[in-house]
This record gives sequence, C-alpha cells and structure tokens, in this order.
Amino acid sequence: MFKNQFPFFINKPEQVYLDSAATTQKHQSVIQAVNDYHCLSSATVHRSAYAIANEATLLFEQARDLTAQLINSPTAEQIVFNSGATESINTIASGLQKKMITGNKILILASEHHANILPWQQLSARLGLSIEVVNISDKGQFTQPEYAALLKQLSSDVAILAMAHVSNALGNIYPVEEVCRLANQQNILTVIDGTQAIAHMSVDVTAINCDFYVFSGHKMYAPTGVGVMYGKRTLLNELLPLRLGGEMITRVSFTDAEYQAPPLKFEGGTPNISGVIGLGAAATFLKSNMHSIQQHEILLSKLLSDGLEKRHDIRLFGNVSAHLNQRNQNVDEVTLGCSIGLHSFVFSNHHLHDVATLIYQKNIAVRVGHHCAMPLMNVLNINGTMRVSIGCYTTEQDIQRFFHALDNTLAELDENAGYQLIPKSKQQDVNQHTDKINNANSISHCNDNSTVGKVTETLPISFNIKQAKGWDNQYRQLLLASKNLNTLPVEMRLNENAVFGCESDLWIAYSNDQLCAYSQSKIIRGILALILEKVMYLNTPLTNNHRDQKSTSIAASFDYFAYLTELNLTPFFSVGRQDGIRNAITAIKAKLAIHHKT
Ligand code: PLP
Repeated sequence: MFKNQFPFFINKPEQVYLDSAATTQKHQSVIQAVNDYHCLSSATVHRSAYAIANEATLLFEQARDLTAQLINSPTAEQIVFNSGATESINTIASGLQKKMITGNKILILASEHHANILPWQQLSARLGLSIEVVNISDKGQFTQPEYAALLKQLSSDVAILAMAHVSNALGNIYPVEEVCRLANQQNILTVIDGTQAIAHMSVDVTAINCDFYVFSGHKMYAPTGVGVMYGKRTLLNELLPLRLGGEMITRVSFTDAEYQAPPLKFEGGTPNISGVIGLGAAATFLKSNMHSIQQHEILLSKLLSDGLEKRHDIRLFGNVSAHLNQRNQNVDEVTLGCSIGLHSFVFSNHHLHDVATLIYQKNIAVRVGHHCAMPLMNVLNINGTMRVSIGCYTTEQDIQRFFHALDNTLAELDENAGYQLIPKSKQQDVNQHTDKINNANSISHCNDNSTVGKVTETLPISFNIKQAKGWDNQYRQLLLASKNLNTLPVEMRLNENAVFGCESDLWIAYSNDQLCAYSQSKIIRGILALILEKVMYLNTPLTNNHRDQKSTSIAASFDYFAYLTELNLTPFFSVGRQDGIRNAITAIKAKLAIHHKT
C-alpha cells in the first residue's frame, strides 16, 4: 500500500528490507523536502533576515510545529532538535542537576538499548546514584509478573525511571502511560525512549505525561543525523545544555554567558537544517496515515509470527502472537503484552550468522547480533538473535520471500542436505593437485619468501573454494570444509584460548601437538579449516626435524587474510567479522610461534 511512496523500492524492486528497526527507508515527501531545501532555500537558520534565510527558518520552525503535533506536545518550544535519540539521552543525563531529582536510584528495564544505559551509568557516578534493573522473563516477555515487579520497584527512593516505549531487541510495547502515572505519584523523573515506537503507533506525550520523550528521525522515514528531545517546560528550563556554542546564547563575555530559552538553548551550532525539514515531512506523513499504517503492520506482523511459530527449530523471544489478537480488537489500543512488527529469535540447530550470511545473498536484509542490548542478551543467556522488523512499506510478498529464503537456507545448512563436494569431472584435477602438495615437501617451497601472501599452491579445501562459482557455491564449500577442521576438544574451550570479535564464540589452541580450533559458526569453522590447511602446509618441515624453525617462521609470516581475499571470500563478511578473522589469524600465529619454541 505504501511501498510505491518509497523511491528506494522503485530503484531496488528485488530487495526485501526487513531491518526497519535499524533504520527505515525514506518517504518520497521527505526526500522531496530535503531536496527542495537544498535547491531552493539553502541558507542557515535563525541568524539573518534575507529572503532565503527567512524561508529556511520558516521551514525549520514549521518542522518543529509538525513534530509537536505528531506527539501532541503542548507547545512547539518543547521540541528540541538534535542528532538523534542517543544525543537526547546524553543531553538529559549530563544536564540533570541534583536539585532536579529526589531519591537515589535510576531504574531501567533489562531490555534497554545501550543508548539508554550508558548515559545513566555516567550520571550515577556523577551524582552518586545506583542503577536498579527491572527484569523481564526468560522468554524476553514483559507480562503480568514482570509488570507487577516493576510497580513494586517504583518507590520514593527512585530518582529516575528510564525506559523504552518499545524494545528494539524484542519488539515489546511497554505500558508507559500507566507506568508514568505511578512514577509521577512518587516524584520520579521519567525518560521515555520512543525511538522504536514513533513510526508504529500514535504517540501522545501529554497523555503519557512523561518528563522527557526522545526519538530519532531515521527510524521514522526521515533522514539520519536528526532527532528529537521533548521535555516538560520546567525541566527544559533547568536542564543544563550539552552542546555549547553559537546560536544558543543571548550574551557572551570571556568569562560567562547567558543561554537562550529552550529549545534554542539545546541547539548550539549550525543545526542539521535539511534533516529537520525532512523530519517535519515525515511527521506529516505519519500523522496523516497512522491508522492505516497500524492496521497494515498488525496484519503483516501476524503473518510473520504465525510463520515463525510454525517452524520447529526456532525459539522466539518477546511478546508476539498471543497478544496480537488484543491489538486486533482495537487498533489504537496499546496494552501490556503487545508487540510491534519486530520479531526476535534464535535457531536450535544453526548459528545465527551462518543463517544470515546465506539469507543476505538472497537479497533479504535482516539483522543478527545483540542489537545494542548486550545486558539483555546476558539475561536471556544468548549471544544474539535474528531480528526481522517491518515498516509501513513491507508487503505480504516480502514476508513470503523471507520465509522461502529462510527455509532454503535452513535446508542448505542441514548436514543431510547432500552437497556435491566436487563434481566428478574435477576429481582428477584435485588428485593431481594433492599429489603435487605431497611432493612439495621434497621441493623447496619453504625457501621462497616471494610466495608470502599469494595463493601459489592449491590445497584441497582451497581448490574446492576456487572451483566453486559464486558465493552460494563457495559458501557450501566452506560448510563442507568445516567438517575437516581439527576440532578443539570441549574441555579446552577456555577463556585463555578464546578469540573475540568473530560474531561467534571461537577458541584456538594446540591439542596433541596439533593446532585445533572450534567455533559455533560452521562458516567460521570452514574459514579456520582453510587457514589451518595452509598453516600445516607451510609449516611442514623440509627435513625430518620435528621442530623446523624455518618452516615455522614462514608459516608465521604468511598473510592469511590476503590469501582469503585472493580466494574472494572476505568481501562477503561484515567489517566486524573481518576484524574477528584477523584476530583469529593473529592468535594462530602466536600459538604457532609459542608451540614451536617449546
Ligand atoms: N533507543 C532505541 C530503542 C533504539 O532502537 C536506538 C537505535 O537503534 C537508539 C535508542 C539509538 O538511536 P540513534 O542511534 O538514532 O541515536
């Protein structure tokens, strides 16, 4: 219904985008407004009186009005523009003064985004407060027992309650209106992170009656680098600004200054003018379409949760289907236990990144990882989830294509799927190559330093990878190679052997005089098998000498990352995973050097 209003999908019709919780695609009215500003009214705001400066200021302040209307702020002056939710929460936490709060605890939910945890850690150190966590169930749910516990925790010794309106990791909608009503009775300062709510439901800050409400433009079809901090007037007057500089003052001397009244007090420096204007356009789009957006998303969300629940090897978190019926009865009713169209899950038999890597190749964008909610992942005792999140542009066909890709991926990952290791016609080539390798020990391969970093010999695994055409086939070869890895015994998967950063647990160590490794990810096991194959080849002594310094030093100085790149493997890994593979290579080299010294 809305898809054709998003130019991205007109340009990329093949793309299934299910990562709207990370960032949304931009609405055509937003792109138009940003473009018009750059083409027709490009000037700075609030400073000059020439025509285009006036035009720019008018557009900027109109965006403030539109944003105020979107969230039913009593006045536009209570809308502060900045770079996003992160800056908003940092502004609040750094600008609060002791006199503005009573109590000595900061209460946060276990599911908070890091942006709604870290600033509070700093504030608690600055003002001598402690942080207390509101729990959720081991299924990631926030239902009656957790809610009852939260209500108990809302006592007069709590200074600040900081919580999301909707969890970015699980999709749960929290009953912020009721919670703020109770918090207000205890004089608790309330900060609501509405980043994941703003594009999916009507937000009414007057009804919620919170002290602060924050969100980011890029999650509501507006540009990146722009966001909003709404605050109650008295608090905005007292809160100290974070960004000091031009435009936020009425008078400055070398020793002191007087600040503007809010909102300008918080908008030091030249603002993101085009971003703000784009945000204003997004606010208009959301306000005029929210009812249809919600109806559309509820249907799609149900389709997603039904499909996920039907599949047996999936463990779902958050409040999903049981509560959607409640929402169906009254679209505008946001009650305890509901969820937006964001579903988070893990697989019983497969590593998240193995599934994601293959799904990505089918033009499906989903997110895997901790979603900037590491403490929550620890509570749930998992490393991360796959998160599928919809936007108003998502269609039924997108969901069907996702499930189709998911089913194919899981079948491919299944060990019994029966891959063709190497076509029979190529078998002879491999045998010849393997013979060459076996003979190579009597040739002077180790003396040739110019070979460092180059794929000069074709070893069995590298042969298969080279022969495989396209990433899908290379990927299959890596899965097969994973079976060839010298597996590190379970009892040796200890901290001292751990390597970090591969987006999966990974250990490397010598066991029974053999370099071994283990990762939960099959694809990483395949990469490790490929690297260790090369290490073993380079480190094979030329003589019968058990500890050959020369071959060890060649194996230790070889550029394995370049080797992987030559095999065309590295472009398929995220920057994070590439860094992790580099860490693994460093660890292998260190183990090699130590082992061969002893
Ligand atoms: N809060 C929540 C719930 C989020 O989902 C995010 C972003 O993912 C943030 C805060 C931080 O938003 P930003 O990076 O736009 O500042």
